[in-house]
Amino acid sequence: MRLVLLGAPGSGKGTQAERLADRFDVVHISTGDILRQNVKDGTELGSVAKSYMDKGELVPDCIIVDMVGKRIRERDCEGGFVLDGFPRTLEQAVALDRILKDTKLGLDFVVNIEVGDAEVIRRLSGRRVCRRCGAVYHISFSPPERDEVCDRCGGELYQRDDDREETIENRLEVYRKQTKPLIQYYADSGLLKDIDGEDSVDAVFERILSAVGG
Ligand code: AMP
Repeated sequence: MRLVLLGAPGSGKGTQAERLADRFDVVHISTGDILRQNVKDGTELGSVAKSYMDKGELVPDCIIVDMVGKRIRERDCEGGFVLDGFPRTLEQAVALDRILKDTKLGLDFVVNIEVGDAEVIRRLSGRRVCRRCGAVYHISFSPPERDEVCDRCGGELYQRDDDREETIENRLEVYRKQTKPLIQYYADSGLLKDIDGEDSVDAVFERILSAVGG
């Protein structure tokens, strides 16, 4: 199974991608996670990426395409993958087509998770992430048992810099301008499945599974 998940920031792409990768036993490739790991490790890529991420801007296409191209060519991706947060521009989508053609692979589906702006803002502004294991919480909808402590590993929870309210609006604007056109791009190629994402994680997961025949 080779899937792309599209959706605004806060649409639940990351959560659903993790579940889908688990269900189909394929690799979960999150460009946001790879970039954040690079920031944490203090790599050159991380320091370039951070300046864009903190403002809610997209990291330049050439950097991202190179990073994803290498990742997809790794052996563990031969059995399939779920792409989460890539592509985010038309140029990245065209580059992905090229990478897949080179590797003689094709996409099975592009799942577009639809969530309204008010819900996105509510979700992102309350999101907290574990510094150690990456588990995701929400201060109202799925709070940890102990404040600011991860239930799964005991790690410290934090708010991503780009989940602050002043940055969220910019991320939504970037999404509307640069990423939304991909919905039409993949509709034209016949791969698109639109999914209503304003429901519980379980309900949305079931909807995606029935759309992709899982
Ligand atoms: P995410 O975790 O997917 O919300 O991504 C967090 C941030 O990483 C984004 O706001 C961008 O700054 C950057 N990023 C992640 N994926 C991409 C991509 N495909 N193209 C450009 N920037 C990206």
